[in-house]
Amino acid sequence: MITLIFLLTFTTTTDEASPVPAHQIFQYIDEHQHEYVQRLREWVAIESDSSDLLKRQDVIKMMHLAEERIKQLGGTVELAELGVQELHNGSTVRLPPVILAGLEKDPEKPTVCFYGHLDVQPATLEDGWSTEPYNLTEINGSLYGRGTSDDKGQILAVLNAVEALQQYELPVNVKFLLEGMEEVGSTGLFKLVEERNSTFFSDVNYIVVTDSSWVSNKPSITYGTRGNSYFFIEIECAKKDLHSGAFGGIIPEATSDLIFLLSTLVDSSGHILIPGIYDAVAPLMEKEKKLYEKIELDFEKKKAIFGIRNFTYNTKEEFLMRKSRYPSLSIHGIQGAFSAAGTKTVIPARVIGKFSIRLVPNMEPSVVIKQVTDHLNKKFAERNSPNSIGITCMFASKPWLSDTDEPLFLAGRKAIEKVFHTEADLTRIGGTIPIVSHFQEVTGKSIMLLGIGGPDDAPHGQNEKINRYNFIEGTKLYAAFLQELASF
Ligand code: MN
Ligand code: MN
Repeated sequence: MITLIFLLTFTTTTDEASPVPAHQIFQYIDEHQHEYVQRLREWVAIESDSSDLLKRQDVIKMMHLAEERIKQLGGTVELAELGVQELHNGSTVRLPPVILAGLEKDPEKPTVCFYGHLDVQPATLEDGWSTEPYNLTEINGSLYGRGTSDDKGQILAVLNAVEALQQYELPVNVKFLLEGMEEVGSTGLFKLVEERNSTFFSDVNYIVVTDSSWVSNKPSITYGTRGNSYFFIEIECAKKDLHSGAFGGIIPEATSDLIFLLSTLVDSSGHILIPGIYDAVAPLMEKEKKLYEKIELDFEKKKAIFGIRNFTYNTKEEFLMRKSRYPSLSIHGIQGAFSAAGTKTVIPARVIGKFSIRLVPNMEPSVVIKQVTDHLNKKFAERNSPNSIGITCMFASKPWLSDTDEPLFLAGRKAIEKVFHTEADLTRIGGTIPIVSHFQEVTGKSIMLLGIGGPDDAPHGQNEKINRYNFIEGTKLYAAFLQELASF
């Protein structure tokens, strides 16, 4: 028998002009950095703190300022209204609109959508800032101000990169989805993504999240985040708090029951003791293992910064894997237990233990919830306590993982090599960005986290900054990335 295999090769010949040399774009960016910093100053000056209802107008103002910037670049902008936010006292307040914008619409070119947020964490001088948090101040090459790194500076860097490319040619179609409620949980955005999946997202090929920073001074690309599941265990032993002199020794106490249960969750090395919890964890492959070997990490420095005595794992690879590709369980607190200074001889009537489990591929939240509930119920039954128990999962979000060989990542890696003359660190983060797994689940698009923040920018903390170097070279990175992406 003869088998014939036909190999068909399609070759595309382009007679288009070759892309603009990157060095020309980079030179343009260098020459315009004063303008870029001025824009960042304007953006930082707006106190778009989404956690403060009194500043809601500032968040809205910030959305309009970004709208204006995109329009100046020739983009079309829709401000999608999200309705109102209900407050605890029953009143409502308007949610900031979401920016859905597009630049260029050439059907021959791929379309990349950048996601980021324009709201910030609270900041006041009294918190211990050395400079006015909303007045951009440059000291020794660092640009201090709330939102410089998280996430105004990064979005602005993308917009500035687009502007620089437009002087020659924008190589791909660029879209933006920018929100103003990220720091308080992206209120309203999850539903909007679903509603716009068949419209706004229909021509999007790639999604890039700007909201991330580097692990070290070496540029990094993030290809995975952990998910999370947060649990309450509520135990009640009486209707009201009791006197330990009157009731101590004659009733099984709620706090003792709770501490017993909490102690069955995790051992001293961080190993989770819930049966079956590791069953679904994706096996470690050779290709992934190699990525950890390449990442730069200074253990001793990390220990010193946080005053940590010792990590539970002492090789760099184990450390990175434990914090990003394996689940972890943390106990956060006990509500209702006496926690003030001084001594109080009380038996709390009702206590709530709080803990969370960070989830990794391929753990399913529904399975984890059942494993946790079964385990705690079994342990509680063994204790034979007459007290009432309630176990609730307060929220759960899935992990997210991409393939580092997808075009999006190849373009990002090439761009990093071009701008920084070094290979990118490919990292997974231990934290959770719920909107990322939501993007993946709803749109099914290829997603990457490409940020330009430095490892010591202190987002959320006092003296947040972005280095001028990161801001300007990061602008070049986004420009180079868009050029590279056009070649796939
Ligand atoms: Mn952020
Ligand atoms: Mn943040």
